[in-house]
Amino acid sequence: MNGSGIFDLNLIQKSTGETFPVNCTVDISPIDVSFGVAEVTGQFRNTAGVVKATLKFSGMYKTACDRCLEAVALPLTAEIDTIVDPTGAKDDSISLENGRIDIEKTAYDALCLAIPTKVLCREDCRGLCYNCGKNLNFEPCECEN
Ligand SMILES: [Zn+2]
Ligand SMILES: [Zn+2]
Repeated sequence: MNGSGIFDLNLIQKSTGETFPVNCTVDISPIDVSFGVAEVTGQFRNTAGVVKATLKFSGMYKTACDRCLEAVALPLTAEIDTIVDPTGAKDDSISLENGRIDIEKTAYDALCLAIPTKVLCREDCRGLCYNCGKNLNFEPCECEN
């Protein structure tokens, strides 16, 4: 399989009955510096002219703990299992750009949906003291509760 053909939607649409395996890494930090390199595996499959995408994404997301503000690197995973709409109208989970599948943007969008609303550095994070601002994970402070 020629790697450059994987994301050419026109080529995939013409290749009835063919499967295009996907196994690559993409750098999505240019879109969002909170991300780095993401792995993409899966396939595009053309069944009677209909292109189905079955993709898995994984990557690290850099953020801060909601309670203590310490840096947290969160492993995220996401999956897409969809029919590729060449117009992008019905389903925009696959990003298209000039007849090409924009795999960086697709990975970014998928992983963004996997970001939890609340991120903690650990389950029992003690957070910061409201009064003096000390990180109570490291040492207790002198303030009274
Ligand atoms: Zn924390
Ligand atoms: Zn304090």
